[in-house]
Amino acid sequence: MVAPVAPIDKVYSFGVPEEMAGALEVGQRVRVPLGRGGRIVVGFCVGLDRAEWKSTLKPIESLVDARSFLSAELLEIGRWISRHYACPLGRTLTALVPEAVRKQAGYKQIDYVRVVESVDDIISSAGRLGVRQRAVLDVMGSVDGELSVDLLKERSGASRTTIRGMVSKGWLGLRSTKESIAPPNFDLPADEPTFDLNPEQQEAAERVCQVIDDADFRVLLLFGASGSGKTEVYIRAMRHVLKAGRQVIMLVPEIALTTQLVQRLACRFADVAIVHSGLTGVERSLTWSAIRDGHKKVVIGTRSAVFAPCPDLGLIVVDEEQEPSYKNLQAPRFGVRDVAVMRASRLGIPVLLGSATPSLESWQNCEKHEHYELIRLPHRVRDLPMPKVVIADINQEFREQTGVPLLSRILIERLGRVLERREQAIILINRRGHSTVMLCPQCKHAIRCPNCDVTMVLHAATDELRCHHCHRREPVIETCPNVSCSGKMVRVGGGTQRIEERLTQRFPDAVIERMDSDTMRRPELYRKIIGDFEARRVDVIVGTQMIAKGLDFPHVSFVGVIGADVNYSTDFRAGERMFQLVTQVAGRAGRYESAGEVVVQTEDPGSVALQTAVDHDFEAFAESELEIRRRTNMPPFVRLARYVVADAIEFQARESAGLLAEVAREAVDRVAAGRADVLGPMACAIARMRNQYRYEFVLRAGEATTICQILEAIRKSRTKLSAKSVIVDVDPVSMT
Ligand code: ADP
Ligand code: ZN
Ligand code: ZN
Repeated sequence: MVAPVAPIDKVYSFGVPEEMAGALEVGQRVRVPLGRGGRIVVGFCVGLDRAEWKSTLKPIESLVDARSFLSAELLEIGRWISRHYACPLGRTLTALVPEAVRKQAGYKQIDYVRVVESVDDIISSAGRLGVRQRAVLDVMGSVDGELSVDLLKERSGASRTTIRGMVSKGWLGLRSTKESIAPPNFDLPADEPTFDLNPEQQEAAERVCQVIDDADFRVLLLFGASGSGKTEVYIRAMRHVLKAGRQVIMLVPEIALTTQLVQRLACRFADVAIVHSGLTGVERSLTWSAIRDGHKKVVIGTRSAVFAPCPDLGLIVVDEEQEPSYKNLQAPRFGVRDVAVMRASRLGIPVLLGSATPSLESWQNCEKHEHYELIRLPHRVRDLPMPKVVIADINQEFREQTGVPLLSRILIERLGRVLERREQAIILINRRGHSTVMLCPQCKHAIRCPNCDVTMVLHAATDELRCHHCHRREPVIETCPNVSCSGKMVRVGGGTQRIEERLTQRFPDAVIERMDSDTMRRPELYRKIIGDFEARRVDVIVGTQMIAKGLDFPHVSFVGVIGADVNYSTDFRAGERMFQLVTQVAGRAGRYESAGEVVVQTEDPGSVALQTAVDHDFEAFAESELEIRRRTNMPPFVRLARYVVADAIEFQARESAGLLAEVAREAVDRVAAGRADVLGPMACAIARMRNQYRYEFVLRAGEATTICQILEAIRKSRTKLSAKSVIVDVDPVSMT
């Protein structure tokens, strides 16, 4: 059985030619002739069946890999992902093994030769020998067994051609192997903290270790505020697994954001493999082999690390399990947490999820499922108080300040006090809707991207307008392009740069640095700013979401959040995201000696998400939000699959979406009547992106298996669509 690496959701049978029978394994890639034309394509061998051999089957053309890169276990995970996330099996399996591993980057072919009979035999039977041949034989006569061709060349002065000639005469035997160039090493000096676990951590760690000893599938949700010491519990759990000689995977969100966490973790274990998107091909490939061979016991990494080829996995840890960045943005569009849970359930091992703001999915699972268990760390370590959160209503400021109020007075005042005390601050700008745009005050014309249905954003550093979706750039225009108006354009809104400017004007003595996707594109710059902030050479960091996560600075006692506007988003998870954001940034403030303070500036002060975030009350938030989700029949009460149909021609996008939604409705009636429904079609929240018109509809069902059945029925209908692209996203984490 072969699953082709092509947009074909089928497996095919082929005959196995005699000479391959011994070498072919499940998981290996092969070349096979496909279709009537017999076009040769690459595919994964996903099953071997001796009985099935019929002479009518076309034979496999050749092998791609000398061995399989997929264990039986990972192949099964691949099958599940392919089904659940509706992605062809061949393509899914490709995503499970890094490209660099398949190419065996970091491995060099090394050729060894040995003398077949004996040097004397060759000399007596060969007749006249060349000088170089003679030299080769002299060298080979002096070694015992094999010598690499490179060394032989060096010692004998013979060329590769001479040596190859002697091989083809049958005098020398040749053996080729792939050997690693140099294994990467991430070992850091061991660094143990001096404190003992507090009783709550102790209890949590003991419970986790007990579950590890039970060696059975179980999902543990470690729920503890930021600064409650979850990391220490992970470390105890991981060590417990290592003691039993097994391996552990710890998943973290986007590595760049969590370098501190990773470093803190890496120096607590003797031998850690770190897997993230910044690795070179060679590093990735060698790390992968070291994990597969069981040399690396601890794997810490982002998304793809969930597929680490550990032969003896004992535990998977998922830190910040609610993180949207755990969702893969290309097909297969898997969610890392859910893959981790699935992998653990098949292996019969526990998963440890950790968060200060668990996803409502995991939270509800703890109530619903016997194999889920909630473990609490209710207090911050060392009895640190929770930071005080204050809401600043920007509407009020509009009435009382002149001009456009970017910064509320309370934020300015509190920040001033912090700077006076020589403490540090973080100002976070919630990017959506809070960038600087060009607007005509007379006719309200805003400069929009011609390709996408969004306004273009001003980048003062390069003095140009940019689209954050298609990356189009345009020069700044000073007069309104609306010919009947030609008013003078103004800059409106507060992107990171505007806020930085305002703060610099207001606090000329403070050192203020900006951190956003512009400055973050260069890792050295990112590290420099973080380093300077740690060393207190910088007083204030202004940035977008990325600064909210994973960073741990002892002297930050103030965090300002700008643009916390829950109800202006079209995503049903807007409230949940806002709660997570405010809680996360609040966790940055006052982690050490000084009690922290947070000012959240919003046009939307009444939202439950913000109100409960002020009280640090996740449970109250969850209760209220779950009630809304129940009423509106949204996740976690149901599962969703979102179809996005796009085309450059609006009519085709709309018509195809309509047609496909109709097919979906018929499929629901046929296979899941009364258990599922279809919402839409409608234009997407961003109705045009990169010149493509976008329409969506959403499939909703009580059970994941129902979604699977309907998706399959839709696929089987083989509806011909005129639209260029159709994407299906199962369990979507974002609806934009
Ligand atoms: P979380 O992951 O829950 O946000 P961390 O594990 O990062 O919390 O712990 C926060 C800080 O407290 C870290 O600097 C950590 O070294 C420290 N810490 C953890 N446990 C203790 C403890 N029992 N006593 C003192 N300090 C601790
Ligand atoms: Zn105008
Ligand atoms: Zn655009």
